[in-house]
Amino acid sequence: MRNPRRCYDAQGREVAPETVGGLLAAGIGRAEIWCNGCHHHAEVAIDRFPVDTPIPDLCLRFRCSACGSRNLSSRPSVMDHYAVMRERKGMVYGSAPKGSPPAALDAAASVADRAASC
Ligand SMILES: [Zn+2]
Repeated sequence: MRNPRRCYDAQGREVAPETVGGLLAAGIGRAEIWCNGCHHHAEVAIDRFPVDTPIPDLCLRFRCSACGSRNLSSRPSVMDHYAVMRERKGMVYGSAPKGSPPAALDAAASVADRAASC
C-alpha cells in the first residue's frame, strides 16, 4: 500500500522525500501547512524539528487552527523559495533574468518543484 505523503517513480519505487535538513541546507527555513478541508494554511519554522523529518510528514504534527481538521498537507515554503531565488539569482516573481536559461535553476528550485509535483 502506497503512502499518500510519498512520491513514486514509474516503476512504483518510493522516491526519498525532502527532509528538514535538506531544506535548511537549501536556505529554506519554513514549510507551508495546508488544510485539505478548508484550505486554511500557515507557514511554520522548520528548524525546531529533527533534520531527518520528511517535509511531507510535518503535517502529522499539526491541527488546522480554523476548522480543527488533521487532514493536512505540508510542503516547502514557496515564499522562502522565491526569497532564495531573488537572493541567489536576482530573480523576481513573474519575470526571468536576461541571459539565464531555465537549466540554471539551483537545488532550492528543484526541491520546491519536486515537492509541488507530488
Ligand atoms: Zn481547516
